[in-house]
Amino acid sequence: MVRQDLYRHCLSVMESADIPDSDFDTLCIFQDVLNDKMPLLLPYMNVEADKEAAILEMIEKRINGMPLQYILGEWEFWGLPVKVGEGVLIPRPDTETLIEDILEIVGKTGMKSPKIADLCSGSGCIALALKSEIPAAEVYAVELSEKALIYLEQNVKLNKSDIKIVKGDVLSPATAQMLTELDIIASNPPYLTAQDMDELQVEVQKEPETALFGGNDGLDFYRAMTPIWRKSLKTGGYLCYEFGMGQEKDIEKIMRENRFTDIKFSRDGGSIIRTVTARKTEV
Ligand code: GLN
Repeated sequence: MVRQDLYRHCLSVMESADIPDSDFDTLCIFQDVLNDKMPLLLPYMNVEADKEAAILEMIEKRINGMPLQYILGEWEFWGLPVKVGEGVLIPRPDTETLIEDILEIVGKTGMKSPKIADLCSGSGCIALALKSEIPAAEVYAVELSEKALIYLEQNVKLNKSDIKIVKGDVLSPATAQMLTELDIIASNPPYLTAQDMDELQVEVQKEPETALFGGNDGLDFYRAMTPIWRKSLKTGGYLCYEFGMGQEKDIEKIMRENRFTDIKFSRDGGSIIRTVTARKTEV
């Protein structure tokens, strides 16, 4: 079949299955399989049988609810390629807000070679983005899930980054004791509530529950991690979290209860209050 006919066929399959952004997803699949950024510029070019089969197989996965990012196996975060697949959370553009916050802190305070830990690192996207922007930084990526660690290792290689991977449970004080004198802690822990989990989009249902579910009110990780990891921060260091829509009041309370100061919130690209940064100003 020629590209244009195959594209029309795939698009109609996707649209009949009510896949949001059918056009975008179909194009991404064509770009990937045909290895061509603008595959429809050559509408009458024949698609080889094996490539056609590969495209149809990917469309089939997509209409069965598999996220596009898992089908492609790679996604972009902060302009960096990040390998993803079942067992690891897909990097979201919202999380780039956390990177912006941290770069602002590093710029403002004049930190030269900050020691940074990214907790619940998953694919490693936060740690990799920070290291790419602050090459002199010493960056640690902490992750527990075996499946996620496989992607994390691949992403470190793919980006030729020298961040250090630490296998450990962020809820265990023993893990925090391995990383001390930190200038910055960054984390996008699981924060969805029990109710959110009941209402997940089909695509998000394919992502690991361990990366999404933060307990009944979504705040279990913040409550547990904040006192444990406070001890690993230098005096003057910063704790920086991403959190879910509407959680800012509770997050502020947790930060205050743990004697953090300079508590600041930022909004993501969709104007939702998405991140907090706070400073440890006393021992
Ligand atoms: N941002 C993800 C979502 O809304 C949740 C990720 C997380 O819990 N940290 O699906």
